[in-house]
Amino acid sequence: MNIALFGGTFDPIHRGHLNVARAAAERFKLKEVWFVPADIPPHKQKAPVTVYYHRYAMVALALAGEKRFVPSLLESPDCEAGGKERRPSYSIETVRRVKSMLGTRDRLYFLIGIDAFRDIATWYKAEELLRECDFIVAARPGYSLADVAGSLPKGLRPKDDDAASLQKQNKSGRLELPGVRLHLLPETHEDVSATQIRAAVRSGRGLTKLVPDAVAEYIYKERLYRGKS
Ligand code: ATP
Repeated sequence: MNIALFGGTFDPIHRGHLNVARAAAERFKLKEVWFVPADIPPHKQKAPVTVYYHRYAMVALALAGEKRFVPSLLESPDCEAGGKERRPSYSIETVRRVKSMLGTRDRLYFLIGIDAFRDIATWYKAEELLRECDFIVAARPGYSLADVAGSLPKGLRPKDDDAASLQKQNKSGRLELPGVRLHLLPETHEDVSATQIRAAVRSGRGLTKLVPDAVAEYIYKERLYRGKS
């Protein structure tokens, strides 16, 4: 079966995330999409992040009734720390852990938005991660999917003479480079971000179009995002 890992900070989960997962599930015949909130997101260590348990609870609430979408504890503080000091949640480790649980006929995809993919070269063991499973890169308003090949770590980036054929592949929605399989998902256009939601709460605006109702209710009950950027 086809499974996708969808990692993120999910601070909070929103309709943009759900839209990406739905489009990917449809296009790549995914049996399951595992939403994996990171305990310590390696790329968001400058700004404070809401405690893991709140973020996980909102993911679980948002996915209720979505049969194919699974809230995953793979990067929870307990799973990550294993009795040791807490450290950032590295995708390469999560992907390898999941692969060791899958059968030979299963196919693992890593689902990611283009804004995050643009920084992929700075990720921990980026080249190894990209070789480890198929990647699905989703479009996001304000970013261009044409940046995909240029965002790869140097060692994986196509040479200039490959550029023309790569452009052709880009149009077909699939980029195949030695050892790396990238798929593009251009049909995701939800202009929503977690930053926008946190700002909406601070300024007292409604969240109806931004997050599922159960998530909005949780945010109000727990008084999240009242004093935070
Ligand atoms: P923030 O505004 O706090 O930076 P975010 O809205 O980008 O957060 P994350 O939890 O950081 O949400 O994103 C997790 C993953 O989902 C990333 O791969 C990101 O690119 C993708 N993603 C988030 N929102 C969208 C969206 N509206 N369209 C496409 N991809 C998205």
